[in-house]
Amino acid sequence: MSIELKNVTYTYSPGTSYEIHALKDINLNIPDGQFIGVIGHTGSGKSTLIQHLNALIQPTSGTVSYNGEDVWAENYNRRALRSEVGLVFQYPEHQLFESDVLSDVCFGPMNQGKSREEAEEEAKKALLQVGFKEKNFKKSPFDLSGGQKKRVAIAGVLAMKPEVLILDEPTAGLDPKGRDEILDEIAALHREKRMTIILVSHSMEDIAKYVERIIVMNHGVKTFDDAPKKVFAHYKELEAIGLAAPQITYIMHALKEKGLDVDTSAINVDEATTSILRALWKKEEDHK
Ligand code: ADP
Ligand code: MG
Repeated sequence: MSIELKNVTYTYSPGTSYEIHALKDINLNIPDGQFIGVIGHTGSGKSTLIQHLNALIQPTSGTVSYNGEDVWAENYNRRALRSEVGLVFQYPEHQLFESDVLSDVCFGPMNQGKSREEAEEEAKKALLQVGFKEKNFKKSPFDLSGGQKKRVAIAGVLAMKPEVLILDEPTAGLDPKGRDEILDEIAALHREKRMTIILVSHSMEDIAKYVERIIVMNHGVKTFDDAPKKVFAHYKELEAIGLAAPQITYIMHALKEKGLDVDTSAINVDEATTSILRALWKKEEDHK
């Protein structure tokens, strides 16, 4: 089971003076159960890329397949695909439209043919999963804070029980606390349900902490696609394309340059602490 892109290119407004080559020859395989980060500066093609994964947009050339089937084949059921590969858009406002939160989240499952009663059951589960409180179920989605709106939008997709959950910059515009809460809830979905998660972000810090694979986009080209440590090892190239590695990468490289024998591939505070302590002990031993 996987999503596969082969030689995918996408051009907006082809043949006009507004022509933009948003994706250039992308090859990608997304197996079940991975937690993937897609990163790149604004305009690098992240949103265009993820909209190919559930057939919201059709490649200008190349193929997209899901579980081995070409999703643009004539009789392919793209509607079913879109509930299996759920996409949460960057601006939740665009996804909310019902008069109360619960009805809003029921929309997807009812669209899948569930009764209101069954849909409500899924909707409640989904809302609680993303930390949305029951006392707010009857509120208008438009009266919610930014973080709560994002939760409702995520729940709206979760209620359809997707196999794959794609989130386009789910933390944009949130304060650090709201950001960490939402990311922790997403990480829990991956851990507890083994859901495939694709998280689009422009922040390396966010991604470094959670994902097992990072896809770096730059001007429509897939520039890196590897484990976080391997990607951050290219921190100078990342900087050249307007992306920073996590702060910890810089600290470790600076210590190494000062002569402390630390592991520069440490990508979180725990790893860094262990490595620094070890290097300090070793230094002490050497001086004895
Ligand atoms: P990102 O999500 O990384 O910011 P996008 O995929 O939104 O990047 O955009 C990639 C390129 O395509 C950018 O140059 C952007 O201006 C252009 N683009 C995106 N959406 C449209 C659209 N609907 N019409 C025309 N150009 C677009
Ligand atoms: Mg985008």
